[in-house]
Amino acid sequence: MHDELYPVPEATAKAALIDNDKYLAMYQQSIDDPNAFWAEHGKRIDWIKPYSKVKNTSYDYHNVSIKWFEDGTLNVAANCIDRHLETRGDQTAIIWEGDDPADDEHITFRQLHERVSRLANAFKDNGVKKGDRVTIYLPMIPEAAYAMLACARIGAVHSIVFGGFSPDSLANRIEDCRSSFIITADEGLRGGRKVPLKANTDKAIEVAARDGAVVDKVIVVKRTGGDVTMKDGRDVWYHEAVAAASPDCPPEEMSAEDPLFILYTSGSTGKPKGVMHTTGGYLVYAAMTHEYVFDYQDAEVYWCTADVGWVTGHSYIVYGPLANGATTLMFEGVPNYPSPSRFWEVVDKHKVSIFYTAPTAIRALMGAGEDYVKKTDRSSLRILGSVGEPINPEAWIWYYDVVGEKRCPIVDTWWQTETGGILITPLPGATALKPGSATRPFFGIQPQIVDAEGKELEGATEGNLVIADSWPGQMRTVYGDHERFVQTYFSTYKGKYFTGDGCRRDADGYYWITGRVDDVINVSGHRMGTAEVESALVAHPKVSEAAVVGYPHSLKGQGIYAYVTLMEGEEPSEELQKELVKWVRNEIGPIASPDLIQFAPGLPKTRSGKIMRRILRKIAEDAFENLGDTSTLADPGVVDDLIENRQNRA
Ligand code: ATP
Ligand code: MG
Repeated sequence: MHDELYPVPEATAKAALIDNDKYLAMYQQSIDDPNAFWAEHGKRIDWIKPYSKVKNTSYDYHNVSIKWFEDGTLNVAANCIDRHLETRGDQTAIIWEGDDPADDEHITFRQLHERVSRLANAFKDNGVKKGDRVTIYLPMIPEAAYAMLACARIGAVHSIVFGGFSPDSLANRIEDCRSSFIITADEGLRGGRKVPLKANTDKAIEVAARDGAVVDKVIVVKRTGGDVTMKDGRDVWYHEAVAAASPDCPPEEMSAEDPLFILYTSGSTGKPKGVMHTTGGYLVYAAMTHEYVFDYQDAEVYWCTADVGWVTGHSYIVYGPLANGATTLMFEGVPNYPSPSRFWEVVDKHKVSIFYTAPTAIRALMGAGEDYVKKTDRSSLRILGSVGEPINPEAWIWYYDVVGEKRCPIVDTWWQTETGGILITPLPGATALKPGSATRPFFGIQPQIVDAEGKELEGATEGNLVIADSWPGQMRTVYGDHERFVQTYFSTYKGKYFTGDGCRRDADGYYWITGRVDDVINVSGHRMGTAEVESALVAHPKVSEAAVVGYPHSLKGQGIYAYVTLMEGEEPSEELQKELVKWVRNEIGPIASPDLIQFAPGLPKTRSGKIMRRILRKIAEDAFENLGDTSTLADPGVVDDLIENRQNRA
């Protein structure tokens, strides 16, 4: 176990917004009197009509209801754009970095205001009204942010579908929220490859029509100029629609609890859920976490590498940063194109101070070798962040030592689509770090660890992670299915929000996410998080990635099945298999020795880069005929190889 403490670097401590004493005091206040705390911090955004009520929430299983600032009114787009015009109209709001390193653009708040207003009017001209659902199926181009903000401006509810999803996945999401409007592009461009977004959209509309879902209008951005068919009366070019629209669009007055967006979860564990977020509480929480977690300070360039198709892109590329008047970087490409130096070249080019990415990217770049990092400068970097999966200590230390040159604190941020914003995280100026730990709760968050029966466990312990009370950014319902919301999150442990994640709390009160509760394995009566075994494997110099699952074992109950991807240039061998078993035995103990190791050129991942253990479990059980919903797989081909080379054959 890496329990080594990394204290706050001196330079960070001096400059940071929040130090440890302030963190402790504010945290205490947020728990002692949530109403007073959020009444105060709710004021960080502009309200048209101020709220008089703050918190009105019930986790009671029979009556789950979550409302924040309910009698206040506001507009999210006005908060992200209009209110900055006077003081920072000419400041860059969005830096766009294209797939091709030669393509980039700076968009000021004033330009953003005009473009969003025009698009908002173009939406209206095409029949979009307050409350309508608009599906956004776009690549990472500024128009994606314009579309989100244009919806928010007129009170339409956006549902973003990641541009890497197939026509079927798109169709499911269109049907589920009955969205009659789509905005897409002719083609996307990622890593030099074209993605046929418009053709996918056409197919999706056909599929959705079989279920009775009708799409009235499709607005099409010309990104590559590739060939597309435009259907008369239905399809409209973006550039024509905005040119014809007025640049004057007063923001709609929305109530705090009006829906802002629907976003389908990434589907690591099952069928995606339409997570619904509302307006006031979401924005307060996204903005506040963005400022404090990343210690964002005026005029800094902030870069989150996520796609706007994920919640991270919603809260930490668009809404949080822009509400704070930050300069946010939006990247169209991928980490390894044209070379694995790309991230760091972009950091140098735009003088990025704060950089936020996912463990999957860090591990991939680590596999490519540190030369790609070291040949870049990176002196502008001040803070690093991680999100999406547990980051194994090995990758954490590489990120810290090689990328950040031991100068930049890493904020390992734990949260979910459902939570709207970050819940457990270090604050750069306040928290001494431990590699692999998300550390401590953000203001207003009350994590608890409970056993299988729901009994709260005290002190240093391990179990299931629940949150005892609501916070403003929490999802309000599963779109169109409140019962599913209640069943999924509030029925396992009555009166508490169940995260679905396993967690350990150490003697310092630090939280360590051990993976999803479904992924816990039980070997001869010992319960073990898969993350721990994976971390041990990845710590081996020849291993680049590992995924561990349980499978039925006649003696132990469950055996440990490890899928291992090797570093570039390493060859699989029986010898290496044995060596890895011995290695894990030494690192953790005999109980954790893998029973079966399968070398895999690639692992099944969601489009957001998370390992889909659900599928690996089936293959390990030799029960791969029914893999369940695979629509969110990034590369379905990976699965065939895994099945072919499976180690457990009945
Ligand atoms: P689905 O809910 O559809 O199965 P998903 O859980 O992968 O998909 P997200 O909401 O994108 O969808 O991911 C949230 C989950 O990601 C968390 O519950 C947790 O398991 C994992 N996670 C996110 N950030 C971290 C982190 N910093 N450390 C550990 N785990 C993390
Ligand atoms: Mg989840």
